[in-house]
Amino acid sequence: MTTLLKAQPVVDQKIADLTKRCQSLIQKGKRPLMKVVLVGNNPASLTYIRNKKKMCETIGAEFELDQLDSSISKTDFLAHVEKLNQNPKVTGIIIQLPVSNELKSLRISQLVTPEKDIDGFHGHNTQWLYEGSIQTNHLLPCTPKGIVELLDYYQIPLKGKHAVVIGRSLIVGKPLSMLLSNRNATVTLAHSKTENLADLTKIADIIISAVGKAELITAKHINPAKKTVVVDVGMNTLHDKLVGDVKFDEVSPLVAAISPVPGGVGPMTVISLIENLILASEKQS
Ligand code: NAP
Repeated sequence: MTTLLKAQPVVDQKIADLTKRCQSLIQKGKRPLMKVVLVGNNPASLTYIRNKKKMCETIGAEFELDQLDSSISKTDFLAHVEKLNQNPKVTGIIIQLPVSNELKSLRISQLVTPEKDIDGFHGHNTQWLYEGSIQTNHLLPCTPKGIVELLDYYQIPLKGKHAVVIGRSLIVGKPLSMLLSNRNATVTLAHSKTENLADLTKIADIIISAVGKAELITAKHINPAKKTVVVDVGMNTLHDKLVGDVKFDEVSPLVAAISPVPGGVGPMTVISLIENLILASEKQS
């Protein structure tokens, strides 16, 4: 029987805890406020933002969206972010990606002050990963944090296991490879230039795909004798449906556990973001 690594039970558990912590902050006069800065009106971004707003409302935190014109200059954009950095009412800031072409040359991940960087992208926050910390009171990047918590919830051991992470982006693959290594997994970080990917995935205990290509991982990548755990981070559209990187129907009967898309890593990312908001607010209070 293949275990489905669904996020909902983890999310439910976390909502209960985060609601209590949010209430306690409100009683102390420090209501958590998530501010999202969106440049333009990218439809996918607006969908992600709606999910963040909904989750803030669920736990009793405040949410505000600053939607800036896509023609905004670098100077005005930087001034806007700096104003939010300085505003004591704002406890968490997200600059929603992608930004406009004009702003792409800015080092977006370094603009939000580390104390309010609930995406966990600022160098001050990612340094904990390099230093090997496994403490949970840092603002870690949300998707990697959510993936490890999903694996923990389903009691999937990491220590000594071989994890093959596919994709080396700064928001998922790279920080995830460090987080897994800090938890004593042996990590292979694969990417677009990796040769013979299937040879690596077939000897993996855990495969995590964060590429953004539908049906990249198929039966040929799996050794059914290994009882592999598969985590699918990908979010792709195929025949008007949201799908991951893994050809689910073909792969799921061959593995011990697999995360679904939707309902797996996506909700874990959002709840990790909310957890970072509460953590940041607690540190500022
Ligand atoms: P990204 O920045 O585009 O990075 C993609 C990575 O995949 C790159 O490292 C690239 O290698 C690698 N790659 C491309 N083709 C490959 C191939 N054929 N074989 C092996 N590796 C290949 O993407 P991202 O931002 O990390 O996002 C990846 C996917 O995860 C997307 O579908 C995104 O929507 C999804 N995502 C989901 C969540 C969630 O919460 N569920 C959160 C974040 C992202 P190179 O480095 O060599 O170019």
